Amino acid sequence: MGSMITLAFCAPAAVPLTRASGLDCDGWLIRWHRTCINCRCGRCAVLQMESSTDMAADKAFQPASLGEQIVRRIDELAAISEEAGKLTRIYLTRELKAAADLILGWMREAGMNAHLDAVGNVCGRYEGERPGAPCLMLGSHYDTVRDAGKWDGPLGVITAIACVADLHRRGKRLPFAIEIVGFADEEGVRFASTLLGSRAVAGTFDESVFNARDRDGVSMRDALVTFGLDPEHIGAAARARRELLAYLELHIEQGPVLEAQNLPVGVVTAIAGATRLAARLTGMAGHAGTVPMALRRDALAGAAECIGAIEQFCRTDESGLVGTVGYIQARPGATNVIPGEVSFTIDMRAPTDMHRKRSVADVVRQIEAIAKRRHLALQLDVTHENRTAPCAAWLRDQIAQAIAAEGFSVFELPSGAGHDGMAMIDIADVGMIFVRCRGGISHHPDEHVELADADAGARVLLRVIENFRPRVG
Ligand SMILES: [Zn+2]
Repeated sequence: MGSMITLAFCAPAAVPLTRASGLDCDGWLIRWHRTCINCRCGRCAVLQMESSTDMAADKAFQPASLGEQIVRRIDELAAISEEAGKLTRIYLTRELKAAADLILGWMREAGMNAHLDAVGNVCGRYEGERPGAPCLMLGSHYDTVRDAGKWDGPLGVITAIACVADLHRRGKRLPFAIEIVGFADEEGVRFASTLLGSRAVAGTFDESVFNARDRDGVSMRDALVTFGLDPEHIGAAARARRELLAYLELHIEQGPVLEAQNLPVGVVTAIAGATRLAARLTGMAGHAGTVPMALRRDALAGAAECIGAIEQFCRTDESGLVGTVGYIQARPGATNVIPGEVSFTIDMRAPTDMHRKRSVADVVRQIEAIAKRRHLALQLDVTHENRTAPCAAWLRDQIAQAIAAEGFSVFELPSGAGHDGMAMIDIADVGMIFVRCRGGISHHPDEHVELADADAGARVLLRVIENFRPRVG
């Protein structure tokens, strides 16, 4: 009995199809994806698919592509969430544990030795030709933000496992080991401290976070114990530089640049550092009807001028500088009162530390000048500073060669978002591959990667792995 599949086509019309009509079928419609995904109309969708008992027999003839396997597992992992109808998987929760178990199973299936490390990372190792050889480490994170998309993080972990599974299926060993790490906390949602998983692996974990409490008042120390881990042993997660040949991460771009370039993948040049500042302008509150304009010290009007200046400054920069004012509060905050005090934040990022620091200094000078001219008191504090993690030139070259060999144009771009590589750079050279995501949308349930792009990313990663040459010297 053939499987009955109903499809919606972008054109010309919806047509019910069966295997008898000549489609390759392995739970997904290969030919359908190849033709329709390329059209990118956004309306193509599988409406209904009834699997049949004889589908398994087809697998022998037509194994699923890497992209198909990846998409299936992305969906499987996304089903593990603490909120119904939404994807939320926070550090050290029951759901994180269930996700860890699922991923560990996939690693073992791919011929890897797998375990949960001292901080909750899932770790797998595929030995090379000689046991005990240093490894090429692949990774990304498997925690999410609240009401997340399903690709941010898991795509890198699942793609890496798919690549190793492919080597395993062919019985291929390389002159080095491959390790995969799914980091347990990259987003920092629960304890307001990011990169906990990768910092533990890099040996830079700050133990003061043990006392941080989540919104229910549970300390990280207690949450680790509940999860089944021992806070005293967190140091055991740390790896030595000599054990790693490089750290490589595949991740969705989380921005619109690759889509604008019409490319499925890109080479990351650097993970941009960030400076965050908290600004407070103090003027004089007063009656909105009685104080003449010339005599006002309006803190909110001053802040508006500062925000305009920050935007203007960053817009005229052509080297990837970005600046954002994402939070503002005016006091006393009433329709008929001139605002006396305004607090706002500034987030500035650039591909190099020098560029960022120089730009922050320029912006600060402009804000100071605005405050002075408007007779406003200014308090400006740096609340967060993260240095830029440049991707190693030799890894960028190898990624670029793999992309070219897969038939795509090589395009380089910086990462404005933070990634685990920012921590891993303390013990290894870092390389990153970006995969296009629809509309650049991320940290949102609409986050989406086309199957063809997931497949392209996997083929590039596999090629990088198989042709990997450790840095000489
Ligand atoms: Zn991420």
